[in-house]
Amino acid sequence: MKTDNKQNYKDSKVYLIGSGIAGLASAVYLEKDVGVPGENIHILEKDLIAGGATDGAGDKDKGFVVRGGRMHEMHYECYWELLSHIPSLEDSNISVRDESYEFNQRFVSNAQARLLKEGKKLDVSSYGLSFKQQADFIKLTYVSESSLADKRM
Ligand SMILES: Cc1cc2nc3c(=O)[nH]c(=O)nc-3n(C[C@H](O)[C@H](O)[C@H](O)COP(=O)(O)OP(=O)(O)OC[C@H]3O[C@@H](n4cnc5c(N)ncnc54)[C@H](O)[C@@H]3O)c2cc1C
Repeated sequence: MKTDNKQNYKDSKVYLIGSGIAGLASAVYLEKDVGVPGENIHILEKDLIAGGATDGAGDKDKGFVVRGGRMHEMHYECYWELLSHIPSLEDSNISVRDESYEFNQRFVSNAQARLLKEGKKLDVSSYGLSFKQQADFIKLTYVSESSLADKRM
């Protein structure tokens, strides 16, 4: 909701449930587009760690762990738009978007595996699906949307 009269919302109090990227993005746009002051936006989190599925932890000596690999694809337009409003922690003159672009250029991703168990790569290429089920999925990507309109999955 973008508004021209941000004064209308300067006394609003907002409580967001969950500190995942959905909650954080809501907070950014509530402040930027709607005019709710940051101090009136409260994010309630049930876990001890903030960030939801995007959490990460560690330090440079022991290494960093995130819950999963992150694909920051160029076509994630809303995501990059969001990050263009967030100043970098290291240099507040540049945004996290620009910092990430620059980082991605310097360190090109070379992921060798999606899932590990006891330090070994798991072969999950079949996703537990039979050959027929895999073929059905591939077929699905070629059919028109209208031909699926009255189908249930
Ligand atoms: C391993 C892994 C890899 C992924 N890789 C990618 C990727 O490469 N690219 C991509 O685009 N996406 C990826 N995703 C998906 C993406 O991370 C999630 O879709 C996205 O982070 C979800 O954000 P969210 O804010 O909707 O929910 P969440 O991040 O799940 O946040 C919800 C938050 O709400 C809190 N909460 C829930 N109920 C309550 C309550 N009652 N009270 C208070 N707090 C509550 C939870 O504790 C949590 O912190 C990946 C996800 C995982 C797990």
